[in-house]
Amino acid sequence: MAVRRVRNQSLHRVCLRFNPKTIMQKYTEKDIKKMLKKIFGFSQFKGNQLEIIKSLMDGNDCFVIMPTGGGKSMCYQLPALMSEGTAIIISPLIALMKNQVDAIRNYSTESGVAHFLNASLSKSEINTVREDLLNGKTKLLYVAPESLTKEENVDFFKAINISFYAIDEAHCISEWGHDFRPEYRRIRNIIDSIGAKVPVIALTATATPKVQNDIQKNLGMDKAKVFISSFNRPNLYYEIREKTKNIDKEIVKFIKDNPGKSGIIYCLSRKKVEDFANFLQVNKIRALPYHAGLDSKTRVENQDAFLMEKCDVIVATIAFGMGIDKPDVRFVIHYDMPKSLEGYYQETGRAGRDEGEGKCIAFYDYKDLYKLEKFSTKKAVAEQEIVKQLLAETSAYAESTSCRRKHLLHYFGEKYEEDNCHNCDNCCHPKPKMNASEQIQLAIEVIQTVKQQFKEDHIVDILTGNKTTSITKFKHNKLKQFGEGEEYDAKFWSNVIRLAIFDELVVKDVENYGLLKVTEKGERYMRNPYSIMITKPVTEEQDEEVDEEMIPNKGEAIDNILFSLLKDLRKTIATRENIPPFVIFQDTSLEDMCTQYPTSIEEMTHISGVGTGKAQKYGHEFVELIKKYVEENEIERPQDFVVKSVVNKSALKVYIIQNIDRRINFEDIAIAKGLDMDELLTEIESIVASGAKINIDYYINEYIEPYHQEEILDYFHNAESDSVDEALEELGEGEYTMEEIRIMKIKFMSDLGN
Ligand SMILES: [Zn+2]
Repeated sequence: MAVRRVRNQSLHRVCLRFNPKTIMQKYTEKDIKKMLKKIFGFSQFKGNQLEIIKSLMDGNDCFVIMPTGGGKSMCYQLPALMSEGTAIIISPLIALMKNQVDAIRNYSTESGVAHFLNASLSKSEINTVREDLLNGKTKLLYVAPESLTKEENVDFFKAINISFYAIDEAHCISEWGHDFRPEYRRIRNIIDSIGAKVPVIALTATATPKVQNDIQKNLGMDKAKVFISSFNRPNLYYEIREKTKNIDKEIVKFIKDNPGKSGIIYCLSRKKVEDFANFLQVNKIRALPYHAGLDSKTRVENQDAFLMEKCDVIVATIAFGMGIDKPDVRFVIHYDMPKSLEGYYQETGRAGRDEGEGKCIAFYDYKDLYKLEKFSTKKAVAEQEIVKQLLAETSAYAESTSCRRKHLLHYFGEKYEEDNCHNCDNCCHPKPKMNASEQIQLAIEVIQTVKQQFKEDHIVDILTGNKTTSITKFKHNKLKQFGEGEEYDAKFWSNVIRLAIFDELVVKDVENYGLLKVTEKGERYMRNPYSIMITKPVTEEQDEEVDEEMIPNKGEAIDNILFSLLKDLRKTIATRENIPPFVIFQDTSLEDMCTQYPTSIEEMTHISGVGTGKAQKYGHEFVELIKKYVEENEIERPQDFVVKSVVNKSALKVYIIQNIDRRINFEDIAIAKGLDMDELLTEIESIVASGAKINIDYYINEYIEPYHQEEILDYFHNAESDSVDEALEELGEGEYTMEEIRIMKIKFMSDLGN
């Protein structure tokens, strides 16, 4: 996938802080590779590890941004082991420190090779550490920032030979990061007061350009060599679902549809973690809770159970996951939307580290974020402002209708050039689109008119004609553009502005309260606009339709006829077996059957309150009844929905889609269904208009000349309307046929719009 980094190149300058030969020995690339093999047993470096290691060993300050799983720690471990003296590794995570020290000791015969220094050590343990350090045995010393800042330690560090400093999880320095730790901001001062003129390598798995600047500024590393790896994780599938009252059920169904796979479910509160883990257990899912409120023994046990696959699902607060390295986590579900996009990226990043499947599903309700914002009002104003902006970014992501990957990568300052990532909900199940060029121009015009001194909300208020106090204060209700975009709602206009930001026509000046500014590209766009597609806003009617189609099991919509049939059957069995009916299945289970329509014993086990035993024992008769009922009434079951959820319920459409998938000739499809070509094309057009993506290239390549294909696509790319008649007139009736144009238009709409 084409990924281009857009970062300030002037940062990539080298600054030699000392004469490397005196402290570090010079090694060639070959030596470094040899040591990698010798110590760690690998014959290859990952990504830009080698480049980073070389640069550090040449004495440069380095700033490394590498996503989780990219092999960050190698960047300082290997140089530490190869250098004279001790590398000081500053890390906030006590558990991780211990793991890393144990791991390093495994590679060495000398147990003193690595130590950690934090509040958990006894006096005598501290003495051992100090002795080893003074004797030059120790190559890596892991220090918690609060231990580093202790005066006695500072004095001690002055006496030892330090090879370099590594600052891991460097985003903790920034208030804009997702894990701000105030003591991290003192690191530079401490390093200076220890006095050794050695290089510093700062590392983080996540950093937006803003966090990056903050870190570099705070560490005085403006001139450091910056190494940025792409944040794209092509194997991760991103999906945002609306959080409804069916969330618990949806999650259970998801887990049962993915049997035996490891997953993490993140909740924001400890209580929710406990409750939901419990709920999953009741539903026969091997799940365990994890949060900081559990005693450490239980925490370790639960974590180990997950690692050893004695449990499939961990329900956790964000306390879980740092330092966990389970490569085959197959799904990460956010029960609650995280507080920041960084957090979201970090947490979803725990899925599919082996580059295999990794489904990331987050349940979103804007009210959740609003609650979080309200919590923050107890904090200082500046902090509140930060929280507000982070939350705004998160909700923009959740509500966005464009590619999730593009959005996330953009957040990390990375440009993702593909139009369709084929691995997010918005790319895989897109909604109908329209050209937003006019709207984007209008938004830019408004931003310019108010002299680029206002935030998104205000601009949207002008466009929609929303007379707020701020609007009247600045007399913006007198502007000619006031209310000019009132035919669309605020959400639509936010999306328009976001699109303009994605396309770099407009920037949000984060340093300046997020004021919107028009870029040079934006100015050029005004003179020379081109088409930019946006999701068509849904009218209320459509909204309802979509709701019904997309959420097949609304709690209240149970099938009453089936319910009474099932109750009768239960009664019959109860009488026969001489047991009370509820012993067979409880009402809630019957209700669930009336929304899920299980037609096999396997599906029956997914019904709430029905385990394998019960399904085997009583399920058969129920399954038979439901099957018959479903067939007689031509019921579209939720299971069927999953396959083609966007298409409406017409069986004909499903038939057409299936046959197109099988690459059946259009003529044959039409004959089989008694349609003429015109009618068939009308059906296909409506399938595509409803948002389904179909691939008809097999048919096109067979029947339409390549030259014609290109000309027609080209026409639609630049056309003002989607009228086929106009196209035919423009392209020439003598040469093109109506059918050709319609077929190519279907392809165009499906490829571009869906
Ligand atoms: Zn996508």
